[in-house]
Amino acid sequence: MESCEVLIVGGGPAGSTCARQLQRAGVDVLLLDSRLFPREKTCAGWITPAVLALLELAPDEYGDGRLLQEIRGFRTSFMHGAEIVTRYDDIVSYGIRRLEFDHFLLERSGVRRIVGAPVRVLEQRDGCWVVDGRYRARLIVGAGGHFCPVARLLGAKIGAERIIVAQSAEVALESGSERDCPIRGELAELLFSRDLQGYGWLLRKGSFLNVGFGSMNRVDFVRQMAEFRTLLARRALPVATLRFRGHPYLTYQRDGRRRVGDALLLIGDSAGLASPQSGEGILPAVESALLAAETILGAGGEYQRENLEPYEERLSRRFGCRELPFPIPFRLVPPLGAALLSSPTLVRHLLLNRCFLRRNQRTLPRESP
Ligand SMILES: Cc1cc2nc3c(=O)[nH]c(=O)nc-3n(C[C@H](O)[C@H](O)[C@H](O)COP(=O)(O)OP(=O)(O)OC[C@H]3O[C@@H](n4cnc5c(N)ncnc54)[C@H](O)[C@@H]3O)c2cc1C
Repeated sequence: MESCEVLIVGGGPAGSTCARQLQRAGVDVLLLDSRLFPREKTCAGWITPAVLALLELAPDEYGDGRLLQEIRGFRTSFMHGAEIVTRYDDIVSYGIRRLEFDHFLLERSGVRRIVGAPVRVLEQRDGCWVVDGRYRARLIVGAGGHFCPVARLLGAKIGAERIIVAQSAEVALESGSERDCPIRGELAELLFSRDLQGYGWLLRKGSFLNVGFGSMNRVDFVRQMAEFRTLLARRALPVATLRFRGHPYLTYQRDGRRRVGDALLLIGDSAGLASPQSGEGILPAVESALLAAETILGAGGEYQRENLEPYEERLSRRFGCRELPFPIPFRLVPPLGAALLSSPTLVRHLLLNRCFLRRNQRTLPRESP
């Protein structure tokens, strides 16, 4: 049986970041992922500079041989509404391809890993976890995304949670048609639904186009998605070649999934941490991975639940402030939304700077491993 101190289930941004941090501190880590890398991941592939900073990744280093689209502004509107263009002097976001990004991070982690290995059965034997009867570990980190088997073990009620439903498609623009594409790389487009529960995006990343729609409103999703597709057709975008794929995930709620158990921790989407305002999930995946690594190292090899509880407190301090302080009454949404999306000042400062770019929030301080 192959043994390790910490076994990480899943090699997305959460898993590879946690693995790298622990390995640098001298911990014996093994990572298992069900897929072979490089692998596709349903995502818009939009990150803020804070993500690269936390990953200690210079844009030049990452952009050398991989797609890194600089974003310097946004076009925002309701679907079929008048748009507001907001420009910035600096780079406020980047477009990446998850196929490249996740592969790069996993390779860079240098961690011992087995890919094409779906984790199925987790059992406790003699004070250790045994995974699929083949791997023995003292601690398991669940980084397997929304359907992570470690989250199930911790009692996640998958199917009964309030999820974000989202669908996206990414296509390579045919050479020659790139110049005709009406979407500009440096200006991402955000098109909000009337209920403000979701938005569509049009993101040009070099010679790739990524479009999609995500919403908290499951009931009206099919209708809103159809409205979004109609809009794409009107913009002369290659709708026929778009293959939409969907994936659910969770926004952070203090009383969401149980994220800690005896010798068990959840990070990233498996812990349900995406931003309730924007649906951004990569930054929380990386942040939670670093907070988990800090907690694991602090536990000094004693992984009982009470020694891992500080992780839950760290998450709450970091993500608790992202919850809305109070629910907005349903009848007030249309007038508030209309006021918000018709004011260039509110769009820049409230919607973009605060909710999407988090320019008011300090980057998570990094503990050295
Ligand atoms: C349509 C859509 C668009 C999005 N756009 C953005 C965006 O632009 N920006 C942003 O910040 N966030 C975005 N998100 C959210 C973002 O994709 C996730 O929050 C992020 O991928 C979470 O990273 P993770 O490492 O936790 O999980 P994942 O990236 O999902 O990685 C989980 C890994 O676990 C593996 N795995 C799963 N089950 C098992 C198993 N049983 N055994 C072994 N391995 C397993 C998977 O193969 C996968 O490699 C989007 C989500 C969707 C659905």
